[in-house]
Amino acid sequence: MTPRPSFSPRKALIKHRIRAFFDLFAVSTGLLQLHERRMRRGLTILMYHRILPSEQCIEYPLESLVIPSDVFQKQMQWLAGHCNVMPAREAIEALATGRPFKKPLVAVTFDDGYADNFEVAAPILETQGLRGTFFITSGFVADGAPLWYDRAADAWQRMSHAARKGLARLNSMPSTDIRTWMAWLKQAAPDVRINLVEKAESLAGGSISRGLYRPMSIKQVTALSKRGHEIGSHTVTHPILPQLDDALLKDELERSAQHLSEWTGTDVIGFCYPNGDLDERVERAVLDAGYQYACAMHSGFNRRAVLTRLARLPITMQRTVRGGCTHDALGFRAELCRFRDWIR
Ligand SMILES: [Zn+2]
Repeated sequence: MTPRPSFSPRKALIKHRIRAFFDLFAVSTGLLQLHERRMRRGLTILMYHRILPSEQCIEYPLESLVIPSDVFQKQMQWLAGHCNVMPAREAIEALATGRPFKKPLVAVTFDDGYADNFEVAAPILETQGLRGTFFITSGFVADGAPLWYDRAADAWQRMSHAARKGLARLNSMPSTDIRTWMAWLKQAAPDVRINLVEKAESLAGGSISRGLYRPMSIKQVTALSKRGHEIGSHTVTHPILPQLDDALLKDELERSAQHLSEWTGTDVIGFCYPNGDLDERVERAVLDAGYQYACAMHSGFNRRAVLTRLARLPITMQRTVRGGCTHDALGFRAELCRFRDWIR
């Protein structure tokens, strides 16, 4: 059975038209520009994962994690012309001064450490004179083994509908939707999770093809740092941190910073919670491990930096790309200034 792509250009086009109506209303009444002026009062942190060619984005199991490279290029071009873009570390320092900004302060961040971040995203940023922050899962880069959620999502997409139904029934999952599968795995104990991922891979007819899910190399992490990008930590193995005991938590936080410091020759002060999962114990451990700020995954605007819970704005295909994978210029502006929060 041919796997169905998770991103439907037709559905996306209908949704886009509804959003476009509100965006046009906002820009013609000045509402959008009002929201854009408000951006100058704080820090907007953008969250990206992967930048890939359009055809790979359409087939990608989790469409919220990819942006087409030509769309990303146009987004960065717009930011370069209208915003003050800097790595998160510098942007947080600028926010702490409390001084107003002439242009909106924006940080562009990437999670996980995929090869496309180095090969595709960084050159686009640099062409526009921009620098970003890359949160690296150090064990992923060091050994190249695919991350558990990529294995899980990829296997689910390759499985037949009957196999999905069987696995869902066996685990009392309410639906066979990929989001339900991923959410179910996240709350499972680590050993149960990995057993299920292996079961799904066997039902899908084999393990993940590594090519699409390659991490960058250690040399590439070093090169990014030398070229002025910030390297932050995203743990060693990308676990769900609140599930770990104190010793394992400390190890994930400290060992990752050690790896990255060795590779870049600089202090690593930025952290990003895998899957955005955190609690007060995890926040304390992050500070105890020597990090000075940590990005979460809740959407928001940072007026005063709550340093262990910085909000980020997810830039997704659904929200910023038209059907057919073309750049939605007004939609990107409407997301960026958070006008779309009012209509969601
Ligand atoms: Zn991640």
